[in-house]
Amino acid sequence: MALKIHNTLSGLTEELIPGGIKKEIISDYPPVTIYSCGPTVYSYAHIGNFRTFVFNDLLNRYLKFRGFKVRHAMNITDVDDKTIAGAKKDGITLKEYTEKYTEIFLEDIKSLNIHPVDEMPKATESIDAMADILKRLEEKDIAYRKDGSIYFSIAKFPQYGRLSRLDQREIKSGLRYDTDSYEKEDARDFALWKASAPGEPSWDTPLGSGRPGWHIECSAMIRKIFGGTIDIHTGGVDLIFPHHENEIAQSEAAYGERFVRYWIHSEHLLVDGAKMSKSLGNFHTLRDIVGKGYSPRSIRYLLLSAHYKKQLNFTFDGLKQAEAALERIDNFIIRLNDIKNENQSNPEIDNIIMEFISKLTDRMDDDLNTAGALGVFFDYIHDINSIIDSNKISKNDAQKIFDAINRIDSVFGFIFYKDKKEDDIDPARIESLIKERAEAKAKKDFKKADEIRDTLQKEGIILEDSKDGTRWKKKK
Ligand code: AMP
Ligand code: ZN
Repeated sequence: MALKIHNTLSGLTEELIPGGIKKEIISDYPPVTIYSCGPTVYSYAHIGNFRTFVFNDLLNRYLKFRGFKVRHAMNITDVDDKTIAGAKKDGITLKEYTEKYTEIFLEDIKSLNIHPVDEMPKATESIDAMADILKRLEEKDIAYRKDGSIYFSIAKFPQYGRLSRLDQREIKSGLRYDTDSYEKEDARDFALWKASAPGEPSWDTPLGSGRPGWHIECSAMIRKIFGGTIDIHTGGVDLIFPHHENEIAQSEAAYGERFVRYWIHSEHLLVDGAKMSKSLGNFHTLRDIVGKGYSPRSIRYLLLSAHYKKQLNFTFDGLKQAEAALERIDNFIIRLNDIKNENQSNPEIDNIIMEFISKLTDRMDDDLNTAGALGVFFDYIHDINSIIDSNKISKNDAQKIFDAINRIDSVFGFIFYKDKKEDDIDPARIESLIKERAEAKAKKDFKKADEIRDTLQKEGIILEDSKDGTRWKKKK
């Protein structure tokens, strides 16, 4: 089966054909070029934002799992209305302000086990590429000036509204918008380049001084990094209009070639039925949730457990269910680790593994159906657990199962996830305390044995006694 993804532009689920020319073998394709709209670094990102960023990471990881080469860029929006207002409020420069929140964002994505992308351009470092777009649009008479700002005339781009299926009647060309974001019902000419108000940062370009509008930033960075048409552009559904509609208009009008082959938009994280957002105040940052004792690993699991095109309602109960699911996975890994049997391999295991990988790939090939893929994974855990129960498994078989799970985790990134806190754990010390406790018990010194258990418990380590000895795990 081929990998199919839903393209917002066509409204269809289409086979991914990087470069636009079909090849027989995946490794013959050129690298899949992906651009993801990144964060506006004006504050802490919330876990709604991270749903989108975790999805971008999933896409990147799954393409690699399927054998595609990938070239992925995600920008940092370090100049817009919100960052300028934030810096002003804090009385620091725009650069100082945005650098602080960029650092925080990078730490957060690391703790969510989001792999670094290949390029992370900053808008303020791409002003030259913006000037090039402006120059071309002015030459073609598609952009016009008004009160020191430059606007895009949407009437001059007849395809305007194709992505967001905007009715032509709703287009109000000649009326202008200076804000970066507005309602679909009120499509007007948008600011490409803004006259900067006194006290605001500005950049000198051959077209005069000012500052970029938000939409032109992404078009410019894409041109600068990739040159021509890119394969995939991603973002949350709220970016379809006006941001992505405007990106298409600027880029295609300026360069006269197709901008993006596949537009992929991920759905929102909701709270009580409403989009999680700063403006509604119904948001949780990653740090708020970690402060309540949850691991970023559980958040990653939760965000990936629903199909990206379905809205997901965030609740703490849902997060607890994510923890419970991870605990099932962890217990399964512990059981596999405990298999010491050196007997001959079970001939069935190879088939089970093959079928597992193939079913899981089928689910993911179908528009990255993570919910279906997780279902396959839990069925697999169930089947292997039954084989372990009946003792028909050797150490060698267990190793093969580990290898398969490792492959799967190159996509999921939450199975063998290492929590930051775990870095402080010293397994050798725990093993030696377990040994000391066993010796104390053998000498009937139960007081000492209990003390050792309590000490470890305070450190978040749980001991489990079984007929084969004592094993330990981290408290959730
Ligand atoms: P921003 O930093 O506001 O530019 O947003 C960064 C990304 O988060 C964009 O791709 C948005 O579409 C996405 N986003 C914002 N709110 C949510 C939400 N509640 N659920 C999912 N994605 C979101
Ligand atoms: Zn963008």
